[in-house]
Amino acid sequence: MKIRLRFAFASLFALCFPLFAAAPSFAAPETPIIPYCQHVWGKATYTWSEDYSTCTVTRTCVRNKNHTISETAAATLSEETSADCDTPASKTYTASFKNEAFETGTATVVTSQALGHDWNETKYVWENDYSACTATRTCKRNESHVLEETAPASAVMTKPVTAEEDGTVTYTAVFSNRDLPAATLDVPISYLDVLWGDANGDGVVNNKDIVRLKNYLADYDEESKTSTVDIFPGADASGDGAVNNKDIVRLKNYFANLEDGSGLFTVTLGPAA
Ligand SMILES: [Zn+2]
Ligand SMILES: [Zn+2]
Repeated sequence: MKIRLRFAFASLFALCFPLFAAAPSFAAPETPIIPYCQHVWGKATYTWSEDYSTCTVTRTCVRNKNHTISETAAATLSEETSADCDTPASKTYTASFKNEAFETGTATVVTSQALGHDWNETKYVWENDYSACTATRTCKRNESHVLEETAPASAVMTKPVTAEEDGTVTYTAVFSNRDLPAATLDVPISYLDVLWGDANGDGVVNNKDIVRLKNYLADYDEESKTSTVDIFPGADASGDGAVNNKDIVRLKNYFANLEDGSGLFTVTLGPAA
């Protein structure tokens, strides 16, 4: 009786708890578990073949550099621009990848340099009093490309004025932009146009003209026959066709000989009429 009961109990136990009977083993597995990498991808790098016909994209896991994904795709020419004055010619290639994680790769290649401007002849417009000149140039390729600059002019008496014959004043304007050639203009000048003694061109004859002449002569270079100090046609106070110390002497005499009674200067300036 006792045995039967035990048997019945055991059967009942096995019947009710079959899972218990086939309890799983909690022993260590025979093969080690491979740790699962939750990849953290670094920036994708795009490498183009030399002729830009293919592009290879690669990305590497920052947690394990052995985890890399790479794909090579054929590239297509997606855009071609021709060179103009300022911008070089270029070709743009595009490569799309099957793996949606990779963005389309693009590469722009310069195929020829910018052409540079092809300037038309320079046009010059002078101020009415020749004090300044404006130079303008437009580009043959694109007339919206315009060079424009206004520069002050200097005046040089290139042919002396005499009472009998007109002289020539040559005005020169030099521009800071190297693509604008200097402007020169010859203007005939008659005896009557010149305020003799007005070396600095301010429209009056006074001590400032002596100062200007002294500065001009102090800077005068015998070899180049030029001075960096500007003078005006009236600088030839003695009227002999040359600008030199005699003009300073003449101006000093002129100021020294103001007649008290008449208020007139008894020494004349410029060529004898
Ligand atoms: Zn990884
Ligand atoms: Zn241009």
